[in-house]
Amino acid sequence: ATMEEVIKANRSALEEKVKEARAFMRKTVQNTNKPIAVAFSGGKDSLAVLGLALEEFENFTVFFNNTGIEFPETIEYVKEIEKELKKKNIKFIIADAANAFWNSLSVFSPPGRDYRWCCKVTKLGPITLTIKEHYPEGVLMFVGQRKYESMQRYKQPRVWKNPWVPNEIGASPIFHWNALEVWLYIFSRKLKYNPLYENRLDRIGCFICPSSSLAEIQTLKEEKPQLWKKWENELKKWKDRFGMPEEWITHGFWRWRRLTKGQKAIARELGVEVPEKRTWEPIRYSLEERNGEFILKINTKIVLERIEEVAPILGEVSKERDSIKIDSIVFTKEEVRAKSREDAVRAYYLIKRAYECVGCGVCVGKCPENALRINPHTRKIEVDSARCIHCGECMEVCPLLKIKNPQEGSQL
Ligand code: SF4
Ligand code: SF4
Repeated sequence: ATMEEVIKANRSALEEKVKEARAFMRKTVQNTNKPIAVAFSGGKDSLAVLGLALEEFENFTVFFNNTGIEFPETIEYVKEIEKELKKKNIKFIIADAANAFWNSLSVFSPPGRDYRWCCKVTKLGPITLTIKEHYPEGVLMFVGQRKYESMQRYKQPRVWKNPWVPNEIGASPIFHWNALEVWLYIFSRKLKYNPLYENRLDRIGCFICPSSSLAEIQTLKEEKPQLWKKWENELKKWKDRFGMPEEWITHGFWRWRRLTKGQKAIARELGVEVPEKRTWEPIRYSLEERNGEFILKINTKIVLERIEEVAPILGEVSKERDSIKIDSIVFTKEEVRAKSREDAVRAYYLIKRAYECVGCGVCVGKCPENALRINPHTRKIEVDSARCIHCGECMEVCPLLKIKNPQEGSQL
């Protein structure tokens, strides 16, 4: 059958879905009373949502998050879409991660399925900052999430509050659609879709994604050898640094920070020794208890001027000639003295953020007092001491310290 015949045969069922989705969008707009936006990724699901929004609304904004690790075809395609939207007077905003991924690699080491710093740095941070800038009062973001994508998605509500972006409500008009319905809709409306779909690549997100299967990586190698080479060259450096065997790359063990049981079994079967866990800490510490005090030392100098820029996060700051005191924690150029182990570790976390900050912006969006900013020259955070209330929220979200839920930030 031709595509026309398929569409004709499914027309009434499809139009029912469209009607329901559009009614959902209308109702959600009424209920939330916020400006309308569509998150467009260059993929088929967000294209369908964009199509529905164009049918339903005259005025809305389209957001595109350029992670900096997109396929060049996606960027070209999105530019074409942007041009067409501009003709319709639809505002188009890009949340651009630029080189953040490549620049952050030396701090974090390669991402893994259990180590998704990449999503925070290339998606969550830029999106948070962009929305905060353009919609400080909040926004209603229509996204192309579908319950059939994964078990986790299945359990999600159709409308939700984004825990990362203050005042952002997310909603998915195509939540109940399956992939076939999405394609039917795209063909029925003759929407221009990403040419990568005709290139055997149906994962059109970041090309280095650690969630890729070995088959997807193989397709990448065959279809886009130069992109794979770029990533493989990085992986080779890390392989040597970690003392990993060749198979770490060829069999995709790099896709985990700590190998799963299944991966360990595969390594055994292959007869290769892959260390169970890889760790990378540019700033390391040693801790010693001396006369009831905890003495923290790090593997580099403590630059007090830099500590001062972030110090309020831990508490009230007082400056002395050669030291900075934050509550009872004393920072000198050589060491940190604290009254408890917890305080010493908190001091280490502060130093780590002060030095290793990659300027992702995730904490900036999360700070309830608007006390954080990224210095445009150093690309690192600074705290406004007049605003900071030492709540510690920003410590909880920084990808340098912990990535609690591996899915965090990957589900935008
Ligand atoms: S999140 Fe809390 S501790 Fe961090 S900068 Fe903002 S007010 Fe200060
Ligand atoms: S301190 Fe803030 S901006 Fe810097 S890496 Fe952590 S979350 Fe990102």
